[in-house]
Amino acid sequence: MAYLTLKNINKIYPNGYHAVHNFNLDMEKGEFIVFVGPSGCGKSTTLRMIAGLEDISNGEFLINGKRANEQGPRERGVAMVFQSYALYPQMSVYDNIAFGLELQGADDDYIDEKVRNTARILGLTDYLDRLPRALSGGQRQRVAIGRALIRKVGIFLMDEPLSNLDAKQRVTMRSEITQIHRETGATTIYVTHDQTEAMTMADRIVVMKDGYVQQVGSPRELYFNPVNVFVAGFIGEPPMNFIRTRISGGSVEIAGRKFDLTKLGKKLNTYEGKEVVFGFRPEAIRLGEQQNAYVMPADVELTEMLGDNTNVYITMEVIHAILKVDPHDTPDVDSTIFFSIPYESVYLFDGETEKVIE
Ligand code: ADP
Repeated sequence: MAYLTLKNINKIYPNGYHAVHNFNLDMEKGEFIVFVGPSGCGKSTTLRMIAGLEDISNGEFLINGKRANEQGPRERGVAMVFQSYALYPQMSVYDNIAFGLELQGADDDYIDEKVRNTARILGLTDYLDRLPRALSGGQRQRVAIGRALIRKVGIFLMDEPLSNLDAKQRVTMRSEITQIHRETGATTIYVTHDQTEAMTMADRIVVMKDGYVQQVGSPRELYFNPVNVFVAGFIGEPPMNFIRTRISGGSVEIAGRKFDLTKLGKKLNTYEGKEVVFGFRPEAIRLGEQQNAYVMPADVELTEMLGDNTNVYITMEVIHAILKVDPHDTPDVDSTIFFSIPYESVYLFDGETEKVIE
């Protein structure tokens, strides 16, 4: 039996806005799940319904198979870390972390042991006497995490916890949170709009858009087997290139050239005459002309040398796309190049439903 179950969960706010539609998910104990999607897609609303901070309008939330819709946050055994650290500024790191246990009336020795253990996991042992204002952003966020972690809870919820940190701190904290999760084994749901956070941290990712779950899967599944154009474009950086085109005689015409789609081994019989979306990832291409690949000519508009790779912005007549190449192979701006897209790296989507064509 799953540890947490969300069964057809809906949220309709009092003003009538339907923010979450039929959300279904089973979570195992100890999993690290990330909800990801653009701002306003319903991630926080769903998290807050799991936390018990927001009513569930429709559907059931189960913990260990038992309905928990009517339970408050404490009964559910959840701890939550928010975007703003919400630390008590006049209290030391020690007291901030201890606060939850003190409220519960735990005895001093127990609290002391727990605080020191939590501080050790979080690398805060040397900072226990400090006030929050004498800490860096990353350290403050660790205190906020420590405060949530110290209580023995089954469910650990985090809502964009890294968004107040600078880019470098975010990268460090990302791996620290993953490490903390490994040490504590707490079942975690983490909300972010950042696909890189989702990809690097999650056991499984839930991609949301406009209040609907688009796909649930491991980072690998979402990257290699996206179910639709939205997921394909959301996961991966730079995003997948998409070209809208029409199938005629089993082929498509892209920038004046014909490409035989029957080589892809996909079920295309019902698509004759219809529009499809041809997708390929910037990093999936090879420069030059290769076997078992579509070879395309392109004009180089702009290149961005990033160190480990170069992003090459190209045009093929009216079509714009990005290629990711080895920096040593950076082509000249304004030159014409040929690149190859291996057949196995081509994605096709239904032009109308935008669902993947298998
Ligand atoms: P996300 O976390 O993905 O950015 P939210 O869950 O915060 O999105 O919000 C989802 C949608 O619900 C948004 O369109 C938002 O404006 C709306 N919303 C959030 N809170 C309320 C509320 N209290 N009343 C009405 N609409 C709300």
